[in-house]
Amino acid sequence: MKIAFIAHDRKKEEIVNFAIAYEKTFSHHELYSTGTTGKNIMGNTELQIHRFMSGPLGGDQQIGALVAENEMDLIIFLRDPLMAQPHEPDIIALLRLCDVQGIPVATNVATAEILVKALERGDFAWRELVHKYKPGDIE
Ligand code: PGA
Repeated sequence: MKIAFIAHDRKKEEIVNFAIAYEKTFSHHELYSTGTTGKNIMGNTELQIHRFMSGPLGGDQQIGALVAENEMDLIIFLRDPLMAQPHEPDIIALLRLCDVQGIPVATNVATAEILVKALERGDFAWRELVHKYKPGDIE
């Protein structure tokens, strides 16, 4: 599964702790992130993460491009609900695309935990079918 991590600045510590807690689970997957989030996670775990640009510089949009193509399987996006972000339009766009494609996305750690438990149980195996059969394959 392709999993993306994004965390706003005041949520960075939380996402690092989350990645540490579920490191073993995440190590079996293909990981992506925005720039600083990925740097912080890799600095505190053994996880290998493909890092895109920093969020304010377009990282959310780069992850969004994969979502638009229905390539991303799960997104953990710890948003800061108490601080305005300069790239708010990019954040809204990313979440909108997740809804367009029906991609599981957690915006707080409580939901993230539930999604990771579901991932461990194999509840997202249907995503493999999505990758196997592209639109138009099934009549
Ligand atoms: P960052 O981007 O991981 O580069 O900090 C996340 C964000 O702030 O949107």
